[in-house]
Amino acid sequence: ITRLQGRTAVITGAASGIGLATARRLAAEGARVVCVDLDAENGAKAAAEVNGRFIQADVTDEEAVRAVYEEAVDAYGRLDIAFNNAGISPPDDDSILTTGLAAWRRVQEVNLTSVYLCCKYAIPHMRRHGKGSIINTASFVAVMGAATSQISYSASKGGVLAMSRELGVQFAREGIRVNALCPGPVNTPLLRELFAKDPERAARRLVHVPMGRFAEADEIAAAVAFLASDDASFITANTFLVDGGISGA
Ligand code: NAD
Repeated sequence: ITRLQGRTAVITGAASGIGLATARRLAAEGARVVCVDLDAENGAKAAAEVNGRFIQADVTDEEAVRAVYEEAVDAYGRLDIAFNNAGISPPDDDSILTTGLAAWRRVQEVNLTSVYLCCKYAIPHMRRHGKGSIINTASFVAVMGAATSQISYSASKGGVLAMSRELGVQFAREGIRVNALCPGPVNTPLLRELFAKDPERAARRLVHVPMGRFAEADEIAAAVAFLASDDASFITANTFLVDGGISGA
């Protein structure tokens, strides 16, 4: 498939998991890929693998984010796709009674403020040629209670979902589509770390997936590629669930 030929994509969190799988997939479909991550070693590796560029940046740093899109456009002449995907899971128990204010703020900063910054600095470049596709990684926990007590995490992803909708509506007539991608549990380092600490939680979670398994990162990447492409030309402000049936059960 070459439906992304000639397109430039910026992917945050591209050093690992969903971001890495998506870098590979978009490149395979013909896009030029800019990989952004805090992790310099794995980020550079990812970029080399997809024949793209690596930019080390902290997505919570406004100046760094502004510079990412400048550099992408300087290098490749245009910006077509922004996959705003970097995110963290809280390191410890994230229930309302135990989450400290500092941990809460950090999760909002990395998961939600980062998406605000990425959209803010990506959209002007897309506006210049009247077209673009933004995909923001939320989660199935943005649309339903998952009974895992991840309070700061769920709140941050709800924010990503609402912001994506607003932007999708606001820029619909300018040809810029904005969608929230809501994966169910995906077999990535983020999930594996979480479940290594609490194996029982993994079992509990699995029960709620009608397909009876977690997603592989490639399955999420395929959805991103679709949303990024003209095949999704009438899809915006959408809550795009890729969750093995969880939200439908
Ligand atoms: P991951 O930990 O494998 O990858 C996340 C990447 O983001 C890492 O390479 C990390 O270095 C980078 N990153 C973290 N903070 C950053 C920062 N401040 N600046 C720049 N880069 C930073 O995680 P993943 O599972 O691939 O998750 C990707 C996204 O998908 C996250 O937003 C996550 O919340 C979301 N998500 C994951 C799952 C799941 O089950 N894995 C489910 C739903 C949603």
